[in-house]
Amino acid sequence: MTARPDRSAEMAGYRRLAAALLGEGRSLAAKSVPAKPEKRTGARYISRSKAERRMVIKVGCRPVDLRFTSAAAVQRRTRKAGSMGCNDYERNLILVVRGLPESTRAVTMMHESLHDINSSYSMDLSEQTVDTLATSIVTLLRDNRELADMILGRKA
Ligand SMILES: [Zn+2]
Repeated sequence: MTARPDRSAEMAGYRRLAAALLGEGRSLAAKSVPAKPEKRTGARYISRSKAERRMVIKVGCRPVDLRFTSAAAVQRRTRKAGSMGCNDYERNLILVVRGLPESTRAVTMMHESLHDINSSYSMDLSEQTVDTLATSIVTLLRDNRELADMILGRKA
């Protein structure tokens, strides 16, 4: 285990995100975003269509803005054709292509969440490790609903 990362940048990110979200008069759990553009800097690559959805997930103590957006917006950021998601740890942001088949979306959400965890805890996992973990964890939970329910505290 490596030394704990410096949390000051993380906390500054938290405050920026909270200010951006709360400043728009929406709760942290807002699921839909109106079409009007935001003033928040650094988020201009996100399309503003009415279909865009977002959720705020919690990774450790940090809220992370998870947004569903166009494939073009994601691939502009990753500069790789075929990217289905990306994450920006400094901005507490995860982008996932909207309209993916449900199982692909699940693996992509897990994959990008694992990248965020990887950065949070300075684990230095390779892309291949993140990818294998994402697929295997989602498969494990889906193949074993009773196990998933117990892990999620839905079942004693
Ligand atoms: Zn990746």
